Formats: sequence, C-alpha cells, structure tokens
Amino acid sequence: MDCLFCKIIAGEIPSNKVYEDDKILAFHDISPMAPVHVVIIPKEHICCADKLSEENSQIVAHIFSKIPEIAKSLNLENGYRIVNNCGEDGGQTVFHLHFHLLGGKKLNTQLA
Ligand code: 5GP
Ligand code: ZN
Repeated sequence: MDCLFCKIIAGEIPSNKVYEDDKILAFHDISPMAPVHVVIIPKEHICCADKLSEENSQIVAHIFSKIPEIAKSLNLENGYRIVNNCGEDGGQTVFHLHFHLLGGKKLNTQLA
C-alpha cells in the first residue's frame, strides 16, 4: 500500500519517534506548526476519522489514553491541542488516521 505513514511504521521512512507501543506510534511532524508538533498514529491503517466504527474505534481510546504520558514527556504541562483533519475539506493530506498534538506556546484559538 502506498501510504506514507505505513512506511514510517515499517521503518522504510525514518521518523523522530517520541512514543511507540504495539498499537500506536508518535513522532515529530516534519513541518511543525507549533514549538511542539507531534503526530500520533495507529499502526493499523485506517484512512481517516470518517472510516471509524464500533469495530475499529478502540484504537482511538488507546491513543487518547496515552496522550497524557506523551504530553508529559514533551513538557506540555501548560496544555496542548489535539487536532484531527478529516478528508479534503478538513485539510487532511496524509490519508492514514492521525492526531496532531500541538503545544509549547499559547495557541491561536481560531478553529476555522
Ligand atoms: P494532515 O495535513 O494530513 O492532517 O497532516 C499530515 C502531517 O504529516 C502534516 O503536518 C505534515 O507536515 C506531516 N508529514 C508529511 N510527511 C511527513 C514525513 O515524511 N515525516 C513526518 N514526520 N511528518 C510528515
Ligand atoms: Zn497507512
């Protein structure tokens, strides 16, 4: 499958990892939009939030259960933002489900 994030999971494309377990991977975004910008992805290929269901959405709970630990390791004790872009109108450019973890400064509150 020609998926950039699947290639990162497979180690075919290098990444600067901040967290990994058997189900998920978190790594620094290549073009950061904030002082801290990490991308958190499931190892299972799910294209986008729009393809989540009762059957496959446990991975989202797993990702969110690890966010406090990941945020702590990145010294985001003052807060952070989690963003998911879904589909073309949502601004998604890599079609492998991911959550952006942004922080390290007071972020702009404009959402759209
Ligand atoms: P999206 O726009 O789909 O929500 O987010 C995709 C993110 O992946 C972007 O923030 C982009 O900078 C990041 N990205 C794209 N290619 C690479 C890469 O090869 N390595 C890393 N670490 N991040 C990437
Ligand atoms: Zn993928």
